Amino acid sequence: MQHGIVQKFGGTSVGSAEAIRRVGAIVGQARDRAPFVVVSAVGGVTNRLFALGEAALAGGDVAELARDIEALHRKILTDLGLGPDLVAPWMAELRDLAHGVALLRERSPRTQDRLASLGERMSARIVAAHLAQVGLSAHPLDAWDAGLETDARFGCARPLPTSDAKIRAAARDRTGIPVVTGYLGREPSGAITTLGRGGSDYSAAIFGAALSVEEIQIWTDVDGVMTADPRQVKTARRVPVLSFAEAAELAFFGAKVLHPATMAPAVRAKIPIRVLNTWRPEERGTRVVAALAASERGIKSIATKGHIAAVNVVASEMMFQYGFLERIADAFARHEVVVDVIATSEVSVALTVDAAARLEPVVEDLATFSEVTVVRELALVGVVGEELRDGLGIQARIFATLAELGVRAEMASYGATRNNLSIVVPRERLKDVVDGLHERLFQAP
Ligand code: ASP
Ligand code: MG
Repeated sequence: MQHGIVQKFGGTSVGSAEAIRRVGAIVGQARDRAPFVVVSAVGGVTNRLFALGEAALAGGDVAELARDIEALHRKILTDLGLGPDLVAPWMAELRDLAHGVALLRERSPRTQDRLASLGERMSARIVAAHLAQVGLSAHPLDAWDAGLETDARFGCARPLPTSDAKIRAAARDRTGIPVVTGYLGREPSGAITTLGRGGSDYSAAIFGAALSVEEIQIWTDVDGVMTADPRQVKTARRVPVLSFAEAAELAFFGAKVLHPATMAPAVRAKIPIRVLNTWRPEERGTRVVAALAASERGIKSIATKGHIAAVNVVASEMMFQYGFLERIADAFARHEVVVDVIATSEVSVALTVDAAARLEPVVEDLATFSEVTVVRELALVGVVGEELRDGLGIQARIFATLAELGVRAEMASYGATRNNLSIVVPRERLKDVVDGLHERLFQAP
């Protein structure tokens, strides 16, 4: 059958009977578009499956953890008026696996993936049963039976190039609404794999791209992407449309959007993604598209990182020599410290890192060939929008706002894509800066 949309429901959207009823209504409304449904595990279950694996390995009390997981699923089923034994086969597998790990005191990535797979395998059964209950012809489907074949990198598997054709072939022979396990795949020799934490969005993008659907819907518990964090800025509002490039910039700030890697299949296939709120389905959410229409351009969002530190490196003798930046980057890489923003001048380099990063060994290395200072108590503000590329007035407004507030930018960086202007400011002024910029960029007439 030909699917018109993929609808992916995250952990909170399948986290209770009440949530699953909403899913039923949302899928029902979309029935004319022949939805392909992808589900996450019930909220919190994947974490518990990892905890269970740890406990089994350490010889701890696995029985109680298993009981909790079982009780959670059985309660949802009972609340939905469905038979609680629906999940029994997967609970039996869970206990067998935990027993095996405890017995051998060994938990390979392959075993852990199999254990982690149980969350989605159970939630898909529950959601499909509920959809059938409300009169939809739905059936549960494990990702591999929907054609998703991956490599054997357990814990971070990637689809094989042959997967797309298999996904299409599986769809051809099918009728009704499949409710497919997100996050999972299977490698050629038959073992279950996972795509990495949060991988259900990736699953949705993989299936959506293979099936050339019109839209991939990501149903979650927020209204979409906001112009600023609503906890910080009371007047923050929903952003109706973002480009993939803008969404990728925002993801860097940890904004509750899609991770760029998970969007890749959709980006390549130019399939729009829409982020929607399961609790407010009437809201239109945020659409993420390959290319913006002229009327859709503008400044989209202000994102922040509240706790960062800057490392300033000055090495006048090294300047104009080969490999200077490489030596700096190397010091960070060697000690596994991730660098966020870099700004360089002829005689210095400034780099920002998360405030929690362990900087001492990096500084020690850098000090062997440069003068290093570390400035703490900083924050990063990112203004995101493709409009920054050519909107001269916007840059001026941003810096004018800082000047009005009496805030000096410690550092500013305008990435190569020019979709994001990142400014480093003193942490104690972060709130003023975000409020001021939000007012100037989103509320000013
Ligand atoms: N259940 C998996 C996780 O929690 C995948 C997902 O929710 O996207 O990581
Ligand atoms: Mg989850």
